[in-house]
Amino acid sequence: MIQSVPILMYHAVADAPSAATRRLSVTPKSLIEQIAFLADSGYTGMTFSDLASAFEEGAALPERPVVVTFDDGYADFAETAWPILERRGFPATVFVTSGWVADAGSHAAGKPLDRMLTRAQIRGLAAAGVEIGAHSHSHPQLDQLDDATLCEEIRFGRALLEESIGRPVRSIAYPFGYSSPRVRLAARAAGYRCAASVRNLRATPSDNVFMLPRLTIRRSTDEDAFAAIVTGAHGPVLRQERVLTAGWASVRRSRRAAKWVLGHA
Ligand SMILES: [Zn+2]
Repeated sequence: MIQSVPILMYHAVADAPSAATRRLSVTPKSLIEQIAFLADSGYTGMTFSDLASAFEEGAALPERPVVVTFDDGYADFAETAWPILERRGFPATVFVTSGWVADAGSHAAGKPLDRMLTRAQIRGLAAAGVEIGAHSHSHPQLDQLDDATLCEEIRFGRALLEESIGRPVRSIAYPFGYSSPRVRLAARAAGYRCAASVRNLRATPSDNVFMLPRLTIRRSTDEDAFAAIVTGAHGPVLRQERVLTAGWASVRRSRRAAKWVLGHA
C-alpha cells in the first residue's frame, strides 16, 4: 500500500492573534491537544525536507509519519508553538517570509500580519533543529510576477535566511499555497530541493516534490475534524475545502487572463 503522509499547515498560535491572522490561527490549547493526539496515536514527526528526500529516494518512512509546518514566521512560533512541539519530541518546519522578519531593517518588505520572529530567534530555532524554509521575501502571489521579480523574490529571501542561520535552506512554501509550472521551475532553478503547496490532500511518494500538498489547520478545526484530517478519514469538510481551493485557482487564472487581455488590448 502506498503510504500517504499528512503535512499539516499552521500559521499563528495565539489566544489573541491579530485580526488578519485569526481565521488561520489556532489557540495554544488547541495546539497542545493536537500534538498530544499525534503523540498518543503513535505518529512520528519529520521535517518537511526530510520527508521530500525520503519520497525522492524511496527511503523507508517511520510507521506513522507526520510533518508539522508553520507559515510566515510569527513570533509566537518561538514563544508558544515550539516549546509545545519540543516537549513532545516533534520536529517542525517554519517557512519564513524574509522581508517580514522583525528586525529585517533595510531589507524589510511587504506587510507583516502580526508580530514576527527576529533574526536571533530564527537562528536559535535552526540551532535547536527546527527546519527553516523560505516563504518568499515580501509574500506576493508568485505566479503574478514577471520573471525577474519572481527570481528576486525566491533567491533573495533564501540568501537572507541562509545568512541568518548559517546553513542551507532547502525548502520553500509558496505564499497563498499557489504555484504555476513557471514558479515551480524557478524554485528548482534557484536551488531549492522541495516546495510546499496547499491542496488539502495527504502527500504521497508519487507527488511532485515541488508541490507537496498540505492540510490546513485553522481556528475552527475542532478535535474531530483534526483527527479526520490527520488519519485521512476525509469527510465532507475536506471535500468542500478542495472545491474551494480549486475554485480559487480558477478565479486567479481568469483574473490573470483578464489582465492579459486588458494589457494587450
Ligand atoms: Zn504565508
